[in-house]
Amino acid sequence: MERRTVVRCAEGHLFSISAFPMRNLGAGRLGPQRLLRCPQCGRLRSAVPADPSVLSEGQLARALRLV
Ligand SMILES: [Zn+2]
Repeated sequence: MERRTVVRCAEGHLFSISAFPMRNLGAGRLGPQRLLRCPQCGRLRSAVPADPSVLSEGQLARALRLV
């Protein structure tokens, strides 16, 4: 299974990305949040990695289908 990162947008939507861009310019200035296109908002949102241990299996499975 492809390794994916589950992230949560500023509106609380969960989705997944193939690799979290940790090495962007300005890393460290904004903490772990990055501007990513949320498939549910349909626009760029600031998103942070979600902790899989606090998500239910259903939430994880759903997030992993949303790219
Ligand atoms: Zn969203």
